This record gives sequence, C-alpha cells and structure tokens, in this order.
Amino acid sequence: MNINVSDIRTYLVCPRILYFRGDDEWKDKADKFLKHTFLREISLEEALYEREWEDKSILNKLLLRSFSSVEGKIEDIYREEFERIDSSLFSSVKEEVKNELSEISEGIWCAVENSGGEVRALMEPEEIERRLYSDRLGLFGRVDKIISDREKDHIPSIIKTGRCPDFGVWKEDRIQLAAYVMLLEEEVGKTINRGVVEYFRFGKPILVEINRYDRRLVLDVRNKIKKIYRGNLPEREEKVFCKYCEYREECAVKRSLFSKFF
Ligand code: SF4
Repeated sequence: MNINVSDIRTYLVCPRILYFRGDDEWKDKADKFLKHTFLREISLEEALYEREWEDKSILNKLLLRSFSSVEGKIEDIYREEFERIDSSLFSSVKEEVKNELSEISEGIWCAVENSGGEVRALMEPEEIERRLYSDRLGLFGRVDKIISDREKDHIPSIIKTGRCPDFGVWKEDRIQLAAYVMLLEEEVGKTINRGVVEYFRFGKPILVEINRYDRRLVLDVRNKIKKIYRGNLPEREEKVFCKYCEYREECAVKRSLFSKFF
C-alpha cells in the first residue's frame, strides 16, 4: 500500500482525521476547496510570468490577467468537482479572490523589493503538477511545481494558500515538502536536499533545506498512516482546534467507546 504525500500533512495536523475522513471530504468544505484552488491556479498560471515584474503596476496587471485566465478555464479543469459546486458559491468565491488580489500583489511586491529577482525565480514553474511515484518509498503524489533554483537544479515547490508563519515554514508543510524531495530524488537519481514552500497570498516562496530528521519523519509517518488504513484508530490528543473540527462528534464517541474496554 502506497501513501499519498498529502496524507502525511494531514497526519501531522491530526492522525485521527485520516481515520474519520471520507473520500469526498472536500464537498463539506467546498468554499475552502474553491478558494484554495482558485489561488493555486493563479500561482500556476503562465500569464503571471509572461514578462518581468519590473514594477508594482506590471505585477498588478499580470495578477489580474492570470485571474481572468483562471476564471475562464477553472470549470473545465475541475469539471468533476464543479458538477457538485453551486454556481452562487463560485461567484462569491471569485469575488473574494478578486478583492484579495491587490493585497497579494502588495505582498509579492514587498518580497521582490527585499530580495530582488529571487522571489520570482522561486515562483516561476518549469513544470506544473508533476506526478511522482515510488514503490520503494511507498509514496506517491502530485507536486504543484518544479522550479529551477540558483544552481539551476530542478527542485519541488508546494503552494500554500493559508496562513504563513512569522519565521520559516509550518512543520506539516516542511515534512510534506520533504516527501516530495525524496520522491523527486528517486526519479532523477540524485540528492536534492531542498525545495520551496510558497505562501502565495503573502508573496513568500521560502527555500527550505531538507535534513535527516525530516526524511526520518516522512518514513515514520508513512508507516503510521498504513496502520490507520488497516483500521487502527490513533489515540486522541486534545488539540486547540478540536472544537472547530468537523469530526469532533464522531471523535468523542469513539473515545468513550474505546475507553470503556481499557
Ligand atoms: S476532534 Fe480533535 S482529535 Fe478528533 S479528529 Fe478532530 S482534531 Fe483530531
């Protein structure tokens, strides 16, 4: 049984989510899915990189052009998902994303001013949505981008559209990236050791060095996920976000049933 790299991230948020989650879980969070997908597509969009980001107004225009391009094709790309998405929800999410564009532009421009051309180089894809697979590692996944770094090496990049930490990257993002690094290394046959986590809404593509600890954790989590898929319910650990979790009722019942026998 091979494990999807995105499940590694979910495991690190909470292992029990993997136990309760169904295949269609995005349906209950269609608004979040749609917003993430829209922003992600803008970051992948060719129009965003079709000319140099010489000043803020050019960047604004390119972002708007990318938005329009994504607007025109997103339903065709995600046809199956859109069959189950209400058109009024799509309109409101589209409006929300459009209203955020100037803030996104501000974030990216601020990063460009601070670090010159590096930001653009870390965002511009050489290839998008590359499928990676390894029976030996027992992992598979589709990485958002392959980018070319300063040494002209091809490295993986993942796009995040949620909050961005003040320093570095979230642990879940780091380990997800480590799994893609390992998969890409397996495919190209050489050590890569780095990748990018791109916090798109904040204009922050962050270059991350992957170390031994990250690699060990990927393999460890992979093994634990296999156990969950064989039906083992992980121990419940109360987390700050439990009260917002969509599985909190099932999770509480399973805990009381479990504790009755032990
Ligand atoms: S309620 Fe808490 S422990 Fe249970 S699945 Fe949700 S986040 Fe995990």
